[in-house]
Amino acid sequence: MRGKLVVGNWKMNGGLAENAALMVALLAGWKPRADRAMAVCVPYPYLGQARDALAGSPIAWGAQDASPHASGAYTGDVSAGMLAEFGCRYVLAGHSERRQVHGESDAVVAAKAAAVLKAGLTPVVCVGETLAERDGPGGWQAVVGRQFDAVAAVLKADLALVVLAYEPVWAIGTGRTASPEQAQEVHAFLRNRLGKAGAAGVQVLYGGSVKAGNAGALFAMPDVDGGLVGGASLNAAEFLAIATA
Ligand code: PEP
Repeated sequence: MRGKLVVGNWKMNGGLAENAALMVALLAGWKPRADRAMAVCVPYPYLGQARDALAGSPIAWGAQDASPHASGAYTGDVSAGMLAEFGCRYVLAGHSERRQVHGESDAVVAAKAAAVLKAGLTPVVCVGETLAERDGPGGWQAVVGRQFDAVAAVLKADLALVVLAYEPVWAIGTGRTASPEQAQEVHAFLRNRLGKAGAAGVQVLYGGSVKAGNAGALFAMPDVDGGLVGGASLNAAEFLAIATA
């Protein structure tokens, strides 16, 4: 059985004092469970702080992006091997803010996911459509299918080692959430593709304005294996309530 995983994406938020308080509160409130896992993906400068605070605890940590390259003349970039040195377990790949703000193509996202796996870490591969794409020709199926296939084609059998996150762009940071039925429909589509690719056991998270008040209904869907949580992961009580929903 696939357990549930709840990953916090701090985005470009935080500071040493705030992070310390947040992680102390998470550690105080999180009770390890066999069927649930928690992780936080923090900005690069705070990886050492996350490692020092969370090492040996039931809360994993990770980063929000990684270079597709192992090393070299890529000023400003950070390799997956460097992230591994900080004890990261997860690295987001293809978050919609990377795709939109930094113009990351499907091919770049696939290369990043491959680099993360090569470093022994788990990529959380994000897919999802904008509202215009949902309403456009082919709908969400065309976009989510294309984004998925690009990664599957590069990773091949290693696809089984990723975590997938369905994040409808229209629901990220907007306060507008996909209904549990809308999420389930896309997750079932992804589960089907995963099965055909020999990766049926991959966890598929939902992301997009997940809150304590809607997490229970979303996570109750048969193909929703937890959440990727942005804004609400910055509040310990809210994030803990989501993780136990
Ligand atoms: C995210 O950053 O991945 C996200 C889903 O953000 P939010 O929960 O704030 O919508």
